[in-house]
Order: sequence, then C-alpha cells, then structure tokens
Amino acid sequence: MTRTALVTGGSRGIGAAIAVALKNAGYKVAANYAGNDEAASNFNAETGIPVYRWSVADYDACAAGVAQVEADLGPVDVLVNNAGITRDAMFHKMTPQQWREVIDTNLNGVFNMTHQVWTGMRDRKFGRIITISSINGQKGQMGQANYSAAKAGDLGFTKALAQEGARAGITVNAICPGYIATDMVMAVPEKVRESIVAQIPVGRLGEPEEIARAVLFLASDESGFITGSTLSVNGGQFVV
Ligand code: NDP
Repeated sequence: MTRTALVTGGSRGIGAAIAVALKNAGYKVAANYAGNDEAASNFNAETGIPVYRWSVADYDACAAGVAQVEADLGPVDVLVNNAGITRDAMFHKMTPQQWREVIDTNLNGVFNMTHQVWTGMRDRKFGRIITISSINGQKGQMGQANYSAAKAGDLGFTKALAQEGARAGITVNAICPGYIATDMVMAVPEKVRESIVAQIPVGRLGEPEEIARAVLFLASDESGFITGSTLSVNGGQFVV
C-alpha cells in the first residue's frame, strides 16, 4: 500500500530533504510552503513533488489546503509539521508582533494542521504525526523567547496527543534538531555560526538529510510502539 505524506514547509531546507526522502522511500508526497513561489517551483521542477501554497498559521487555509492535497493524492497518512520561522530579539526588545508571528506559525500551525488530518487517521486506524521542534525548545535560547516557547509547546502537544492517538494506531512524535545547515542557520552571522559549531561535540552543523532519516524511521509502520517521544538529532550538543 502506498502511503501519502504531507510535509509543511516542504519546499526548502529540512522540509525539502524530508519530502525527497519520503518520496524516495515510496510515499506519495505533497509539500506545502508559505510564499516563496520561486523556491517552491524550483523544488517542484527538480523533484516532481507537488507543492501547495498556504500558511499553516491560518486555520481555514489549512482546511482548504489539506482538502486539496487529499483530493489529489488521497488521505494523509503521515503529517510532518516542519514549517517554522524565527523572529529573534532579546526579550526587552521583542515586539508583540514578533511574539505572535512565531507562536502562530510554530505552535498554532501545528494545531491547525494536525486538526485537519486527525479524524481521518482515527477512522482509518493509522497515522503518523511528526513535528519538527528544536533543541532550543528543549534548553531555551536567549534571543528566542518566542521560538523556545513555541517549540517547547510542540513537545507538550506531542506528549498529550500521543496518549489520545495510541488506541487508534496513530503515533505522535517530535524531533528536536540541533543546528542544521539551512537558510535559517546560514542567515546567522559567520562569527556566531563558528561559536555555535564550537559547542557541537560532533564538530559540525547537521545536514537536512540527517533529520529526514529520523523522520523516515518514525513514519514507518515498524515504529508503531514509539509514541510521545522526543528524538534529539543534535550532534551531542544537548543531552536530555
Ligand atoms: P527554512 O527557513 O530553510 O525553510 C522554512 C520552510 O517553512 C519554507 O518552506 C517556508 O516556506 C516554510 N514556512 C515558513 N512559514 C510558513 C507558514 N506560515 N506556512 C507554511 N510554510 C511556512 O527552515 P529550516 O529548514 O531551517 O527549518 C525547518 C524546521 O526545522 C522549522 O520548524 C525550524 O524551526 C526547525 N529547526 C531548524 C533548525 C535549523 O538549524 N535549521 C534547528 C532546529 C529546528 P517559504 O519558502 O514559502 O517561505
């Protein structure tokens, strides 16, 4: 049976690597994105993976978007909540808008998306919800009170929902990447990046494909006993 996977923020960075890995593993894959049409159409041209534009921060747009994906590819069996943004600032300078945008995308977006696929997964007695949280949701990071709060919220959501989904064959897990070489991290000034790498015992940034392999593992039928868990993929930077 060919399963269908939907990856939010699947047109670039970690999400793109996840979408490609799922496709290579035989899934039907849809990739969502927010607004960068050029990156999305390049990704579509390179991979053949269909791309769908909507914001995960908008509940009604998520409902319409998932309905379209399911009409095109069939019911979503695997949802990867990967879309995320940063709006970094020290707290005394953080604006309500910076706070809200990050919570809306990185936490409310996970509710908005998971809510669309949950009933179908319960009815079909199978589902995989995999949310990309962050090392900074585990340990907290100065300059990221908004981001750390949202990503920590994703972990609480995962643990609670895992209990609700267990009897229906739905597993709900989170992955906490450390620092991965994507646009998000490459936008950090080089000096800061060097100081980050110095804190990673493995001695380098992670690659998007290393997160994708963890997603493949949690998505598989064989991972049915793993639920409510947080998988750290961080080069040893933070050991829980
Ligand atoms: P990128 O900035 O490289 O890519 C972000 C992707 O998310 C893009 O496809 C973007 O679409 C999409 N996106 C952003 N906002 C929305 C939205 N509101 N609705 C739908 N799609 C949206 O990010 P990364 O690949 O670096 O990060 C992916 C995830 O991993 C995020 O959740 C991030 O917090 C998390 N993470 C990343 C780490 C890292 O080191 N890179 C470390 C720990 C966690 P568009 O192109 O249209 O803007």
